[in-house]
Amino acid sequence: MDIIVIGTGYVGLVTGVCLAEMGNRVTCVDRNPEKIQALEKGLLPIYEPGLGEMMQRNMASKNLFFTTNLTGTMNSPCLCFIAVGTPPRTNGAADIRQVMSVADDIARHMKAPVLVVNKTTAPVGTCDAIIRQIRMGLAARNKTITFDVASNPEFLKEGDAVADFMRPDRIIIGLSQQKAAAIPEIQSQEILSRLYAPFSRNHHKIIFMGMRDAEMTKYAANCMLATKISFMNEMASICENVGADVERVRRGMGADSRIGYDFIYAGCGYGGSCFPKDIQALIRAAEDMGITPDILKAVEKRNFTQKKRLFEKALAFFGGNLSGRHFAIWGLAFKPGTDDMREAPSLSLIQSLMEAGASLVAYDPVAMDTAKAILPSSWLASGRMAMAEHQYAALQGVDALFLVTEWKPFRQPDFAAMKRLMKQPVIFDGRNQFDPEELAKKGFDYKGIGRGRMD
Ligand code: NAD
Repeated sequence: MDIIVIGTGYVGLVTGVCLAEMGNRVTCVDRNPEKIQALEKGLLPIYEPGLGEMMQRNMASKNLFFTTNLTGTMNSPCLCFIAVGTPPRTNGAADIRQVMSVADDIARHMKAPVLVVNKTTAPVGTCDAIIRQIRMGLAARNKTITFDVASNPEFLKEGDAVADFMRPDRIIIGLSQQKAAAIPEIQSQEILSRLYAPFSRNHHKIIFMGMRDAEMTKYAANCMLATKISFMNEMASICENVGADVERVRRGMGADSRIGYDFIYAGCGYGGSCFPKDIQALIRAAEDMGITPDILKAVEKRNFTQKKRLFEKALAFFGGNLSGRHFAIWGLAFKPGTDDMREAPSLSLIQSLMEAGASLVAYDPVAMDTAKAILPSSWLASGRMAMAEHQYAALQGVDALFLVTEWKPFRQPDFAAMKRLMKQPVIFDGRNQFDPEELAKKGFDYKGIGRGRMD
């Protein structure tokens, strides 16, 4: 079966390239012609380690193709992945219009049986809506062509996306309950088992369930991860006030096998295209059903507060006035390994510092072009905000450094060189990368997150 992947963002492009890598013939479709033009030339529109070489290799071996629309791609039976966006509406609910427009496109172009697989994170019930939309589209064309819809939420992490797709922890597949009776021609479970077998060779990683179970699993998983982060951030605030160091507390907590070490780092808040929007979407969905999502609301509120912590620390340190101060920012991306700045904590910090009258120079190994595209151009044009060529160049004459994204080159910097370059040796560390005692010995004023100390 030929494979079509609709949407060539972080999820769609990685899906298309990795499926092609396993020998499938894949056509990636995106409505953005500039993206498709770049991809056809072998150029990646996003930064994702390892993806570019794999993509070029599969283009050269004629396994991977790109196009701006579905015309001519659905003449024979195919598997059609949906990987478009579900941005938040102003009330927080997930906007599924991109998904519905793709369902409509599929109905208009399909000429043979199709198994539609939804990878997009979308509210419970979206796959049912896709089924209705395709039925309506086919009815409008006066056609009866068999199709099935499955939910297959994606769990890859930007920065590790290729490795995550090639060696996933688990593959969740939600199948439509009535499928077997309604359309026996499409053996969805068998098709998807075979497709994913090479990604799951040594372990039974494929978990089949109902469509709604799969849709809910994705939201529940992201909300759990965000909860762990907000929980630790709350512990960090308490640590600061009781004279405990959250890094030591984290090590002590993680040693309990029921808790574990993963995802219990305190910091300056979570960002990205998934956690903030998925939490909001589940809160909205719960409230619409008359459920009060107390925990989810607290998780979101804590994250909102947490994104302001570095700014508050700087304000306190500099006596309540940051006007005329000059600061360096290390890290713009919402996490290391990506150029994605959607909902990044750096954005909230930059906004607050600019409003307080400071000037800034930022450095990020890959996200500076993204920053230039999304920050107000007047900030850059006026010179109050600049990008540095190198992490050390950002430090020239600054009153303090903010470490916002824990890229590897920031982890063991040359502290002596830093001290020589900075006007004042002050570090606000939003990712607890450094040891407060060591930094104090080196003569730095160091403020991390949750590093209260009385001993
Ligand atoms: P993205 O915004 O990077 O990419 C979406 C792409 O879809 C864009 O290139 C857009 O042009 C294209 N598109 C939109 N409508 C289209 C249409 N009608 N036809 C063709 N192309 C269309 O999004 P993303 O980060 O890849 O995320 C996609 C989905 O996967 C979201 O629901 C997200 O929550 C989920 N997800 C994302 C990640 C992640 O790390 N980014 C991880 C897991 C799940």
